[in-house]
Amino acid sequence: MASEARAVICTICAAASVSTPTAMKFPGCPQYHCPSCGGHFLYPMTTANFVVGCLLAAVLLVTAVRTLLAGGIPLPGLLGLLAVVALIIDIRIRGAVAKARARAHSGTQ
Ligand SMILES: [Zn+2]
Repeated sequence: MASEARAVICTICAAASVSTPTAMKFPGCPQYHCPSCGGHFLYPMTTANFVVGCLLAAVLLVTAVRTLLAGGIPLPGLLGLLAVVALIIDIRIRGAVAKARARAHSGTQ
């Protein structure tokens, strides 16, 4: 678990700060505390975790297609479902961070 301080931007109020994660949330996304608005916000998982999630999702997709082609009904495993859910959560967090950055750069809140 990486706990070193890093420059982050609050996805709630777009205030920049240097913080250490206060918690680790599913699916491996660090949670930070904003000193400006007092809120808690999530940051995306590490790139390594994101790549693993993409690989798991790709394996799930290939397996599902092969099952379909064989005339069966694909039943994704729990791990595959978790990987897809994790990617969706991560992509949403990345979007929130990008929006906060855009707000901080435009100078409006
Ligand atoms: Zn904030």
